[in-house]
Amino acid sequence: MIEIQHVSKSFGGNQVLKDVSLSLEHGQVVAILGPSGSGKTTFLRSLNFLERADSGTLRLGDDVYDLHSANKKQVLEVRRKTGFVFQHYNLFANMTALGNVMEGLVTARKVPKKEAERIAKEALDKVGLSDRYDYYPAQLSGGQQQRVSIARAIATNPEVILFDEPTSALDPELIGEVLAVMQDLAQSGTTMIVVTHEMGFARNVADKVLFMEGGVVVEEGTPDRIFNHARQERTREFLQRVS
Ligand code: ADP
Repeated sequence: MIEIQHVSKSFGGNQVLKDVSLSLEHGQVVAILGPSGSGKTTFLRSLNFLERADSGTLRLGDDVYDLHSANKKQVLEVRRKTGFVFQHYNLFANMTALGNVMEGLVTARKVPKKEAERIAKEALDKVGLSDRYDYYPAQLSGGQQQRVSIARAIATNPEVILFDEPTSALDPELIGEVLAVMQDLAQSGTTMIVVTHEMGFARNVADKVLFMEGGVVVEEGTPDRIFNHARQERTREFLQRVS
């Protein structure tokens, strides 16, 4: 069980998160939707301390972390237990696909090199890149680079993977291959929180959809609830605009 409670955050005088809460079960996929500027990315980044929230807690299993005042050790612990997939992949340009996936295992987790290589290859196989181990990021398409970064996230076997608009930087023809990998992961029981503009993914893959606007959760529910029976006018308006 993952429980996120009462997350608030301001930048200067601008409060961008106002008491946002979310809980999900192990194996569930949550899609976070909402207009640009509604706080989705800030919320996600707060969960593994890429941003420091002003308040809020994160429960991962039996452990509770204060998203404002966690110490260095706790921050590292949360980062070990979570994976993060960025919009712009963030791969090391001077390392191969295999090297990128092995890096965190070897340096942060002290996994012996041979074992790290085995795990990294398995992760790359899962995202359909078994023929690209030795390619450098510049030799890969955007979709392939994003799949490497997903492999990097799953290689550490995290409790939850946080995806920040993973397909937004991709050319349209490359989006499908990344969404297909994410759908595979979802079906194999990976716990995921996904900020996305891909309504098809939210509708067809997510167990729960969260609609945010102006730093608050306007509405949440099953995809059917949100897409077909939204109670809030703001939700309906947004969905009409984007579909
Ligand atoms: P979304 O992901 O929904 O588009 P964001 O979380 O990126 O929204 O941004 C929410 C608001 O917070 C926006 O108004 C944005 O300008 C502001 N914001 C985000 N990051 C920063 C920052 N580092 N400094 C100041 N303002 C920020």
